Amino acid sequence: MAAFGTEFTAQMVTSHYENGQWSALDVVPVAPFSLHPATHVLHYASECFEGLKAYRRSNGDVHLFRPDRHIVRMGNSAAQLLLEIPEPAALEQSLHMAVRAVIDEIPAYPGSLYLRPTLLGVEQDIGAAARPSQKVIYYVLTSPVGDYFAGGLKPLRVKVEDQAMRSTPGFGAVKTGGNYAAAMRQVVRAQQELGADQVLFAPGGDVQETGAANFMLIEGDELLTKPLDGTILPGVTRDSILTLAADAGLKVTERDFTVEELLERAPRGEAALTGTAAVLTPVGTFLYNGQEISVGDGQMGSWSSRLREQLCAIQSGEAPDVHGWRVPLKGG
Ligand SMILES: *Cc1c(COP(=O)(O)O)cnc(C)c1O
Repeated sequence: MAAFGTEFTAQMVTSHYENGQWSALDVVPVAPFSLHPATHVLHYASECFEGLKAYRRSNGDVHLFRPDRHIVRMGNSAAQLLLEIPEPAALEQSLHMAVRAVIDEIPAYPGSLYLRPTLLGVEQDIGAAARPSQKVIYYVLTSPVGDYFAGGLKPLRVKVEDQAMRSTPGFGAVKTGGNYAAAMRQVVRAQQELGADQVLFAPGGDVQETGAANFMLIEGDELLTKPLDGTILPGVTRDSILTLAADAGLKVTERDFTVEELLERAPRGEAALTGTAAVLTPVGTFLYNGQEISVGDGQMGSWSSRLREQLCAIQSGEAPDVHGWRVPLKGG
């Protein structure tokens, strides 16, 4: 299977907003768009997206993982960007339609079908820098993905960045391309200069998240992570892991904490990144001010392994779905 992000199914679901209304959802071939050079999104970044997965169980049944959460988050992203968006019921239907249209191409677990719902402002007007696009395209692109960890789970080297911001207050909770553009040069610099895999943004010492994943520290019987205060993305994987951690008897603490506290506690604990693509990835080393600080013994810790396995077992269909996170595919 091709690298994540480069292989797509041949069909997607789409809808267009024009003259104040959304067209009916439609299954169409995946093909290049034709966009006028003055298209709003190309200049003013009027876009947001989601990333979620559909899984095929060993008995053949297909389910989506917590699509309701992704629908709510996309609604919030669109609201912040003043982008029109289809109603939640239409968004839900679009996800099921998009999966149903390519159902034969969903790889068996640990593979999955990655769904990328996207909104683009497509009005042709470069004068509209300070008003919303009156034309919007919504589409759900899908991509078959293989085992993300076929090569094993290697703990990451993470640079702790205590100056630069990944995003701006409030906008940190929006899944929009602009936030990735803002963070990218920090990530590339950390890769080039330090051989880091990721950057943990902690502006002014306030530990937040990496460019595309939420962050958590586990030490003793406590899991510590930043609260959802608008600076970080409200990750669905974050929420799932916090829920499983509480179920397993960990004390889950959502509060602000500093780089100083992080680096003091990390050698005795575990640290991890969470997100849909990679589920949970351990941090093995922090890079800060010329120092290398090992997290625990530098390998994946027991809580991280256990929580990751528990979430994967729910996603695969192997474990009971006590929280109602698996949504069976509708229609057909
Ligand atoms: C998508 C994303 C995450 C992870 O969210 P999930 O819902 O767990 O996939 C975390 N941080 C940022 C900045 C993201 O864009």
